[in-house]
Amino acid sequence: MAPQREWFEKDYYATLGVSDTATAKEIKSAYRKLSRQYHPDNNPGDKASEDRFKEISAAYDVVGDETKRKEYDEARRLGPMGAGFGGPGNGNFNFTTDNLGDLGDLFGNLFGRGRAGAREPRGAGPQRGTDLETELQLSFLGAVQGVTTTVNITSDVACHTCHGTGAKPGTAPRQCPHCGGRGVIDENQGFFSFSQVCPECGGTGAVVDEPCPTCRGSGVERRARQVKVRIPAGVNDGQRIRLKGRGGPGRHGGPNGDLYVIARVEPHPLFGRRNDDLTITVPITFAEAALGADVKVPTLDGSPVTIKVPAGTRSGRTFRVKGRGVPKTKGAGDLMVTVEVAVPAKLSSEERKAVEALAAASSESPRAHLGV
Ligand SMILES: [Zn+2]
Ligand SMILES: [Zn+2]
Repeated sequence: MAPQREWFEKDYYATLGVSDTATAKEIKSAYRKLSRQYHPDNNPGDKASEDRFKEISAAYDVVGDETKRKEYDEARRLGPMGAGFGGPGNGNFNFTTDNLGDLGDLFGNLFGRGRAGAREPRGAGPQRGTDLETELQLSFLGAVQGVTTTVNITSDVACHTCHGTGAKPGTAPRQCPHCGGRGVIDENQGFFSFSQVCPECGGTGAVVDEPCPTCRGSGVERRARQVKVRIPAGVNDGQRIRLKGRGGPGRHGGPNGDLYVIARVEPHPLFGRRNDDLTITVPITFAEAALGADVKVPTLDGSPVTIKVPAGTRSGRTFRVKGRGVPKTKGAGDLMVTVEVAVPAKLSSEERKAVEALAAASSESPRAHLGV
C-alpha cells in the first residue's frame, strides 16, 4: 500500500501506547487491551470511546501489519518531502506513483495555486524519477523455480542528507517569490500569452536558501545500491520485470521511477522451455519404438519419470507428462517428452546380421504410397 497523508500526522505507536520499537507481540497485546476497553459494546452511547476505538483500530491496521508497518516507519523516517508529499495539509491524500496530476494539485494548493491551474510545462513542480533498466543473468533452474536475488545498480538517488529536498538539514525550501510557486511565469504580448519556466527557481516553484552541503541543492546523489529482486517462477528469457518505485528518485516531491529487470535465462543442456512446459528430446532404439518400451526420462526437479512408449511409436512423437513442467502458484506446466529413434552410426557384426534379417523379413516398403 502507498503511504497515506495521515501517516505524517498521526503517531500510531502513541495511539496504542507503545514505543516505535515495540515488538509485533507487544503491539498486538496493547491493541487487544485497548480495543476491549473502548469497544462500543462495552461503552454504549459513549461517543468519545467510539472515536478512540476507531483510532485504535486505524493505528493497529497499519502498525499491526508487518508490511504496512515497515512502509509507515519508512515514510515517517523520510518525512513528507521524502515520501512525495509537500508537507502537512488537509484531508487524506492517496499517493500513487502513477498519479502526477494529484501531486500537481497538492503542490498547487500548498503554494497557493488554484486546483484548476494552467497546464504546467515540463520541468515545473514535482518530477517523476527516471526509469532504470538492468539485466539479470538467471540459471535455467532459477528462471523455472523463481529466485530471490539482488541486482547492483548505480543511479541517482535521493540525497541521504536532505532526503531530496536540496535544503540544508534544519532548513526547508520556500515558495519561489518570483513565480509564486507556480514554476512558470506568464508573459503577455498583445493577444498572446506565453508561459515559460521560471528562471528564478528553474521550474521547481521552490527556492533553497541554504543548499544541502552533500548534494549542493540538487537533492540527488549518485550511489551504487543493491536492489532485492524477487523473480517469480517461470520467467522467460527477455522478460521485463517491473519493480515499481525502485528506479531513480523523484525530484521536488515527485514519485520515484520504476526499475525494470530484464531476465537473461541461460540455456539448459537437456531441457527447453515452451511457456510453462518443459521440453526434452529422448533417444530410443528402433526396437523400443517398434516393440514398445518403458523409458526413463529425467526431470528438472530431480526424480525421473517413466513413460510408456507403445509398440509402433514413430520417431518424433511427443508424450506429455502432466505437472512436471514449470511450477506455478496454481498447478504447473507439463513436461513434453519427444522421442527420437536413434540410428547407430556403427553396427557390430551381430547387429548387422540382425538388421539384415529384419530387412529381408520386411514385407512392405514404407515408400509404397509414393508410387515410385
Ligand atoms: Zn520560480
Ligand atoms: Zn542533499
